[in-house]
Amino acid sequence: MTETALREQMVQMAHSLFMRGYSSGGAGNLSCRLPEGGFLVTPTNSSFGTLDPATLSQLDAQGEHIAGERPSKEAVMHLAFYRSRPTVGGIVHLHSPALTAVSCLPGLKVDNCLPPITPYYVMRVGKLPLVPYYRPGDSGLAEAVAALAPTHSAMLLANHGPVVSGGSLREAIYNAEELEDTARLFLILLPHGMVMLTDSQIADLEKTFKKS
Ligand SMILES: [Zn+2]
Repeated sequence: MTETALREQMVQMAHSLFMRGYSSGGAGNLSCRLPEGGFLVTPTNSSFGTLDPATLSQLDAQGEHIAGERPSKEAVMHLAFYRSRPTVGGIVHLHSPALTAVSCLPGLKVDNCLPPITPYYVMRVGKLPLVPYYRPGDSGLAEAVAALAPTHSAMLLANHGPVVSGGSLREAIYNAEELEDTARLFLILLPHGMVMLTDSQIADLEKTFKKS
């Protein structure tokens, strides 16, 4: 995709997320790699509902701000993810209600916060490790994300929300939507118990469908 098309796509998909309640106020941020190098990031304190393609933050390959409005303070976390996982083309960070609710539950499994309850979750994301709580803006958060990114395409920040990647921005958003749906199902099922996919069913999915 051209840079112009990526700018338009980021604005359109952010608006769609906003309208469906995935992001409110200035919460959440999106980013993608640019074809000529560098990154596009949603500006600090911007609303997903009213982004402007012309004023999105542009960073160079080293992460320096070179054009557009000032980037989100959480851009550092995105950059750490891109550096640790070169196949990633787009990243979504949300404070979406179901995943954020899960991130506040006691007793989460650190290596996988959401059990394998549907094949779509397993195919799109696989496992969702928990990143310990860090104060927003703490440099330790980017380091913790970078440590998990080589082996995981998505992670859940404790008492905060998800960070989800994909081969493109579109794929990252689709993965985030699948994760939010899975979290909603998990919370509905929590009082009742749930049947999970077996190890052999998961292995069959992993063999058949390649994850990015
Ligand atoms: Zn956040």
